Amino acid sequence: MTIYCCFRCDFMRIGIDIGGTKIITGIVNEKGSVLYSKKIPTESQKGYAAIRDNIIILIQSTINESGIQKNEIEQIGIATAGQIERVSGKILFSPNLGWHNVPLRNDVEKATGIKTHIENDVNAATYGEWKFTLKSIPQDVLGVFIGTGIGGGLILGGKLYRGFSNVGAEVGHTILNPYGYHCNCGNDGCFEAYCGGWYITERVKKRVQEGYKGKIMDVINGDMDNLHAGTIEEAYIAGDELCGSVWREVIEYLGAGIASLVNLLNPEVVVLGGGVIYGTKRLIDDMKIVLEKRAMAASLKGLRIEKARLGEESALLGVSYIDE
Ligand SMILES: [Zn+2]
Repeated sequence: MTIYCCFRCDFMRIGIDIGGTKIITGIVNEKGSVLYSKKIPTESQKGYAAIRDNIIILIQSTINESGIQKNEIEQIGIATAGQIERVSGKILFSPNLGWHNVPLRNDVEKATGIKTHIENDVNAATYGEWKFTLKSIPQDVLGVFIGTGIGGGLILGGKLYRGFSNVGAEVGHTILNPYGYHCNCGNDGCFEAYCGGWYITERVKKRVQEGYKGKIMDVINGDMDNLHAGTIEEAYIAGDELCGSVWREVIEYLGAGIASLVNLLNPEVVVLGGGVIYGTKRLIDDMKIVLEKRAMAASLKGLRIEKARLGEESALLGVSYIDE
């Protein structure tokens, strides 16, 4: 737990971000400050009821330990990966938690007595960057968050765009090559299968396990636990042959993928976030070279590519203040 600030505002909210490995909660204000935060392990193997109960206990202990009164909390926002039914607030499917049709919003609202909102985590992260980093100024923003997989979020016309049945902006499963790498969603050739951190690492890991020895082994000190997008990029820069071919493909597909989305949506800003973006040095700059070659000139005019700045707090900050 961390106390970030002792300054209080009248309108405080609680944001919760349920990830595959940890659940983070924070008391936040409308300036985008996290006043008090706490995290617990997700323990996804325990199943829905146990995790739901842990979340409710976490909310209560966050309120108690922060010294803030419950009646000062205006709303709770929950961000989670997966598809959410808008009217019922049910999580229809959460791939990293294995949940199907769980009524998390209603369960939390009932247990706490505080109005609760639930949202896809990348929608929430994009909204957080838009509201607090970009100050809600650009009307059209595309968020692409690259971690183990790829998630997307869209602000169109100054509003969060969710699609006809609330499951839109699945950037990671746009298909870049119908005959391409297999994706964990079951399809082939998805954006995520080319540029998601887990997939990139698996491609290098497989070849190393088959006996490949190159500069990558020095970069990771012979320890496979050190193998991730950041070390693969480092080995690519150092001239490793395997990481060179893997990483050049990542750059090319990332640039082509973003170019397609830029041509389709004509955003003013593309926000790039997630572990692969934060953990690499040149990926954004390398991607931009491909983007500038492949997107249409009119779509590139005035376009800004920004790195997400709220880090692991983007989703909990965003979800706290989504009122639409
Ligand atoms: Zn897919």
